[in-house]
Amino acid sequence: MSLAERYDLSDLTNQMEDFVFQELESQLNAIADEDICKCNDCILDMACFALNNLTPKYRSSLIGSLYAKVESREVHVGVQKNVAQAIQKISQNPLCGNV
Ligand SMILES: [Zn+2]
Repeated sequence: MSLAERYDLSDLTNQMEDFVFQELESQLNAIADEDICKCNDCILDMACFALNNLTPKYRSSLIGSLYAKVESREVHVGVQKNVAQAIQKISQNPLCGNV
């Protein structure tokens, strides 16, 4: 039996995903729908791009999540910067082919 089968790993989450999705939503809301492609593929590409450039913040329990909920000023600046770059990069060259 593998470790993944023996233990419940579903509580293992990367808090950075929440920060990136929140920031992505707020920045995308400021851009008109007709200006960039907001299809599922492009949104996921943007999230991947930003997340791959940010240090993950994994937690494994509810208590850990309470500590991780607080997004430090430094982390927030990094998230803002990487999400802005992700939107620019993906929207300029969308893999989905929509322009
Ligand atoms: Zn697209």
